[in-house]
Amino acid sequence: MVEEGDMDSISEEKLSFQAEVSRLLDIVANSLYSNKEIFLRELISNASDACDRLRYAALTEPNLLSGDPGFKIHLKPDAKSRTLTISDNGIGMNRDDLIENLGTIARSGTAAFMRQIEDKGEGANLIGQFGVGFYSVFMVADRVEVTCRKAGEDHAWTWISDGKGEFTVAPASPDSLDLARGSRIVLSLKKDAAEYLDPARLRNIVKTYSDHVAIPVVMTEGDKEDTLNSASAIWMRSKSDITDVQYTEFYHHVAHAMDDPWLRLHFKAEGVIEYSGLLYVPAVQPFDLFNPERRHGVKLYVKRIFITDDCAELVPPYLRFLRGVIDTEDLALNISREMLQSHPVLAKIRGAVTKRVLNELKKKAEKKPEEYAAFWDNFGAVLKEGLYEDASQRETLTGLVRFASTKIEGLTSLSEYVERMPEGQSEIYYITGDDADAVRRSPHLEGFEAKGIEVLLLSDPVDEFWIPAVATFKDKSFKSVTRGGVDLSGFAAKDAGEDGDAKQEPEAAAPGTDALVAFLKLALKDAVKDVRRSERLTGSPVCLIADEGDMDMHLERLLKQHRQIDMASKRVLEINPKHNLIRSLSQRLETKGTAGEGDNAALEDAAWLLLDQARILEGEAVPDPAAFARRLTTIVERGFGA
Ligand code: ADP
Repeated sequence: MVEEGDMDSISEEKLSFQAEVSRLLDIVANSLYSNKEIFLRELISNASDACDRLRYAALTEPNLLSGDPGFKIHLKPDAKSRTLTISDNGIGMNRDDLIENLGTIARSGTAAFMRQIEDKGEGANLIGQFGVGFYSVFMVADRVEVTCRKAGEDHAWTWISDGKGEFTVAPASPDSLDLARGSRIVLSLKKDAAEYLDPARLRNIVKTYSDHVAIPVVMTEGDKEDTLNSASAIWMRSKSDITDVQYTEFYHHVAHAMDDPWLRLHFKAEGVIEYSGLLYVPAVQPFDLFNPERRHGVKLYVKRIFITDDCAELVPPYLRFLRGVIDTEDLALNISREMLQSHPVLAKIRGAVTKRVLNELKKKAEKKPEEYAAFWDNFGAVLKEGLYEDASQRETLTGLVRFASTKIEGLTSLSEYVERMPEGQSEIYYITGDDADAVRRSPHLEGFEAKGIEVLLLSDPVDEFWIPAVATFKDKSFKSVTRGGVDLSGFAAKDAGEDGDAKQEPEAAAPGTDALVAFLKLALKDAVKDVRRSERLTGSPVCLIADEGDMDMHLERLLKQHRQIDMASKRVLEINPKHNLIRSLSQRLETKGTAGEGDNAALEDAAWLLLDQARILEGEAVPDPAAFARRLTTIVERGFGA
């Protein structure tokens, strides 16, 4: 912060953009963005936000308006100087704000996002989802000058940049001090951007992109002033007066997004509590969806006045993908943010809005399953949080969840799964893991596959948490296939003929299996909880499972990653008695009476290799990679007769 007394000593300062901004500017400058005109939307959007913010601050500090309560956004093209000026009398920025807001990207997770863009080398596409905001001016201008005076402060400041790595900030020159408050942005337009000096073109852009902005956008043409937009809150207008394009443009504005929304809900509730809402579900996943510091997507207005975009109470966290506004008549305008925290009116609105949104999702899920699948792909993992967070909506939510499964292409609902359950099956089988493909390849599924039993494939971290909370669906409990206590003996093999006889007799277990189990128990006694014959394996020799009362293996890995626990439970090693390798090991043990010392060492190596293999398949780390490599080498050498 600059102290008053320091003012005289401050002259121009040269500063560098944060590295991410420089990269962003490179992308902006080099991308052949097809519609450069959106820079104007971004600037008008910022100007209208700045007016909203001042209007709110003035509710408690009326002198911030210093007698000028009329908000306005002003455009002035000047062909002679080849400049376009956009000004507003909103809240403005001081020196620190300018450096912070126009020198860095404050939005959380942005740095990570920028790296992602670079890695994928598809900046131009992804940047569209992200919205470049203010920095989009450098698509059309090679020099930008921003002069600001923050409402209630004495000093004005000027920020200047050509968008090439550096910017300067200095006290505003005396001839720009006519700015009583707010911001004035002067764009020196590039040669190929002269069209933005043409009043007709500007009028058209404002009409297209910014008609919904609730603050008048005025253009000066000679000595004429002309308002270009409707300047009324779009959510208060009747649906029939709003075109699809206008709805979409409002979404772009309110969500800082560029996609076409997947769903829109425009509603007005007139009951005990009166409110209107215009909400959207994006078509692409916002990049900070899982970032705890993300912005809230739904803005709260009271009687058309913006109150906050930081209200956690407005929609539940599991609907945090929603974007838009809610405007109510039933809160006091001067309500403080603290009072919002547990306000009964907000709680009622949240409950009603949640119901409304879930209801719309349900309609989509039933009538347009393919479209719903796209939504699910983006936001299913978020919606599932509601299953344990919001018991009041659990029933509706269990109807909305979708899963990949071993039986069908695409997604299934729980009801559909239950309808497909064969007679005799009383549990809903599922498997959890880190990603869909790994889960699909898991050896734990083999026995279920062989008997034609459907297993739901779950790969979102949240799955570990809602399943215990929900516990049952239509009186069927959920059962993990990676745990003990799964009994498949009652199910006939998939290929079974009419009379239930298997077409092909499976390989019988070798006689020495019991001896092998005993040997493995002894050899691995400190590393596993137990060794058992498996029913769930057909193709693989071994797998690990969690014992019935123990923590699921995938959950334990998740908790370890997040440092919630550091202990590890011992697992049960299951062996497949019909597998060739297990059979030959068993036979080897049977005949071992005649074998020597060396043979014992080789069997022990095999025991550890089997365990490590099961760990790898499970996605766990091998605790002693050097020993693993040594054993593997020995065995391969022996195999090649080295
Ligand atoms: P976004 O609007 O998405 O936050 P921008 O890059 O467009 O990103 O703007 C960054 C920040 O600069 C804004 O969040 C706001 O705080 C500030 N800002 C931009 N334009 C103005 C303006 N006209 N008046 C006041 N503050 C502004």
